[in-house]
Amino acid sequence: MIPSIATVCISGNLLEKLEAIAKAGFSAVEIFENDLIAHPGSPAEVRRICEDLGLRIVTCQPFRDFEGMPAARRARTFDRAERKFDLLQELGTDLLFVCSSLSPEAEGGIPRLAEDFAELGQRAAKRGLRVGYEALAWGKHVSDYRDAWEIVRRAGQPNVGLILDSFHIFSRGFEIESIRNIPGDRIALVQVADAPKLQMDTLSWSRHWRCLPGQGDFDLPGFLDCLLSTGYQGPLSLEIFNDRFRAGSARLVARDGHRSLLWLMNQAETRTGKSVPGAAPMPPPAPVRGVEFIEFAVDEAARPEFEGLLGALGFAKTGQHRSKDVALFRQGDIRLVVNSDKEGFAHSYQITHGTSVCALAVKVPDAPALIARARALLDAPHTGAVGPGELDIPAVRGLGGSLLYVMDDASGLGRWAEVDFEPVAADNPGDAGLVSVDHVSQTMQYEEMLTWLLFYTSLLDARKTPSQAVVDPAGVVQSQVIESGIGATGEGLRLVLNGSQSHRTLSARFVTDFFGSGVQHIALNTRDIRRTVATLRERGVSMLPIPENYYDDLEARTDLSLEDIDALKALGILYDRDERGTFLQAYTTTLEGGFFFEIVERNGYAGYGATNAGIRLAAQSRLRAAEEEIVVDDLAL
Ligand code: MG
Ligand code: MG
Repeated sequence: MIPSIATVCISGNLLEKLEAIAKAGFSAVEIFENDLIAHPGSPAEVRRICEDLGLRIVTCQPFRDFEGMPAARRARTFDRAERKFDLLQELGTDLLFVCSSLSPEAEGGIPRLAEDFAELGQRAAKRGLRVGYEALAWGKHVSDYRDAWEIVRRAGQPNVGLILDSFHIFSRGFEIESIRNIPGDRIALVQVADAPKLQMDTLSWSRHWRCLPGQGDFDLPGFLDCLLSTGYQGPLSLEIFNDRFRAGSARLVARDGHRSLLWLMNQAETRTGKSVPGAAPMPPPAPVRGVEFIEFAVDEAARPEFEGLLGALGFAKTGQHRSKDVALFRQGDIRLVVNSDKEGFAHSYQITHGTSVCALAVKVPDAPALIARARALLDAPHTGAVGPGELDIPAVRGLGGSLLYVMDDASGLGRWAEVDFEPVAADNPGDAGLVSVDHVSQTMQYEEMLTWLLFYTSLLDARKTPSQAVVDPAGVVQSQVIESGIGATGEGLRLVLNGSQSHRTLSARFVTDFFGSGVQHIALNTRDIRRTVATLRERGVSMLPIPENYYDDLEARTDLSLEDIDALKALGILYDRDERGTFLQAYTTTLEGGFFFEIVERNGYAGYGATNAGIRLAAQSRLRAAEEEIVVDDLAL
């Protein structure tokens, strides 16, 4: 199947769109009628531009309100089709894309509609053109692909075929198994779009919420599986109407689009064991086994205070890099690398972002395979000796230009701590009971969220949970969880992606202050949060104060004992539970630049304390306002 994309998916004028599409590696494009109409040049010129860019025009769509017109309007409708044929020929393409009629005048009835398509097919054949018919989910008489297929079948013209669009099928909840019975050579075109499951009318859902395969909730690999049975080999074309994409970068959305199709074809192959014609070969997705280390970029001036905080959190400095100004801190299974070297990647990252997480290293079963998969998915592998040590650890460019290192046992990369670092005698206040990394929270521009969702879920064997809205005092923050390789004993990778459309939320202000997207907090597991937080407080770690009202509410809505609630209150610990267990959380106050640590005790609980997120955000905003000496009363005026 040939990856293709409709110009409507991305932002810009027609030329900008076509250039971005070609640059993203597509060789086929659907031109959306409005893009052509708004373009000042002739269709012949557009044809030439596409030829120069190596793009084949699949169709120029759509052609509306064709079938079922009453006798008085029928002739005029066929005249319109002839004009559209002229246009298609000028553009050098051969497919007339007819979507099911919305006209109030249109009459229904499968035999009647089949007659219209028989005549249209005969007229198209005289010019060597084809006709495709798509059932819109909100079509007046035809909204089901199975009815559209029956009309096409009865039209009995070899050049009249069916157009399948995954959105129109899944949004109506139609079964997809019937697709298997359609001969592949009678399918004129296949359009793919994903979408989050929402309760709304199909038209608004389609116009604003479609997204790329892998970013939503539809079973697109299952759709492709059915399609494979038909023998269809034509274009697999993205048709995405999405408000974020219209506002986003054309280049990035086009690249994400190509990536999503490569992922989709690979996903269908992995799931069915069948080969998808045209799919790019790549190793299968693998789960993350765990977080190997987290690297901080810290300059010399900020280093004493930062290392002091790590010490108070219970981290011991256990290694000094043999040749660079890089130190290794450990506690339990957590390894933090503090990089203050004056050269290299971490240094440039620090100059832009201040004290920050510049890299995340994950352990996977096979690091070279993961890098090969990244390349096949159009990710940007990072090469060169940029790791925290002498070993050339393979990496992929991640969020905000940070690095995602990948390590495995087989390639010997797991030995990095011994190879690169000279052991030093621990000199710190002692362990605080932190044992492992629970989750990493990344904050980004709202428009980027789907990009990074696709980045992680295409590269790794990962699952995503539905996006959640969290209320910040200054707006709404969208939060999206991605998990890979999560087992019973805390291994794997848990990521939380956050983004906000409102400019005044803490998430949005983080992106502004940080000069880009990045890691906003890291949550570390303890088996006894009361002991850990008590230790941190004794050591003077500044913890986020939680208002009394929160604990009064706990009393009202949970069955915790008063003693338990008092203990949580004394330490500023938040509480949540689900059907599987309990979750306790506490936060350090934020460092300059907005980063903070979270301490969690997870007892079988599967979530991330979303019910408490609003309380945390309000507490952080209050502190921030106090720091900025903004008097709340003044704001109220
Ligand atoms: Mg469509
Ligand atoms: Mg968290």
